[in-house]
Amino acid sequence: MSALMMSCDAAISQSFRHNHNGNCQQSQNRLLDQPTLPQTFDVKGVKMLEAEQCMICEIAFTRKLKVLNRTSMKNCKRCGRAVCDQCSDQRRQLALQDTTLHRICDKCDTEMDNFRLRRNHEDVLAAQKKKIEMLNNQLVQLEEDKVKLEEDCRTELRDLQNNVRARYAKRDELNERLSSLKTQITNQNNSRNLLHKQICDLENAIADLEVESNRLMTKQNLIQTQTIELEH
Ligand SMILES: [Zn+2]
Ligand SMILES: [Zn+2]
Repeated sequence: MSALMMSCDAAISQSFRHNHNGNCQQSQNRLLDQPTLPQTFDVKGVKMLEAEQCMICEIAFTRKLKVLNRTSMKNCKRCGRAVCDQCSDQRRQLALQDTTLHRICDKCDTEMDNFRLRRNHEDVLAAQKKKIEMLNNQLVQLEEDKVKLEEDCRTELRDLQNNVRARYAKRDELNERLSSLKTQITNQNNSRNLLHKQICDLENAIADLEVESNRLMTKQNLIQTQTIELEH
């Protein structure tokens, strides 16, 4: 409740600041009452009551005719109650078109304050309701954004996974080609070694043949020499 009163007070002082430049109490009351005041108020139509004692604090009225006597009978111009001076020390505008302030009793003063508070309370509630509506709309928008973002993330993740899978496949394929090339190199090395060995063998055979050829040539020469000697 105190929080509500504080927000009402804040609303009152804010509207006062926005609409008022001076410090006149009368102008302030006029401004504050404006939202709850009727266009016109017939003060002459209010039945002014008579009583022996104040209808609020019940103090007995004095019959002495002194203008400033605090216990002489006064009347509230709003409800007509017979009240003492102390129970009617507030002056208020009773209609929007009023140019003067009227004596009102404490009960009417409280009642008018309550009207004003209720009006301010309603204004604050309406503002809060509007704000809640706005926040709800924002919430719906955020929820939609969240769903869309999640969908985008899922799509992006799927693309990334596909990409990674494709790269793994490419890597496997390259590894296979590399291992095939290594096998080919090994085979070629083996073939080269085999050829090298065959060349060595052939070179050895040629050397052996040359030795044999020389030996045969020597033998042939020897035979020729012996033949010539025999002929002579
Ligand atoms: Zn009184
Ligand atoms: Zn009154």
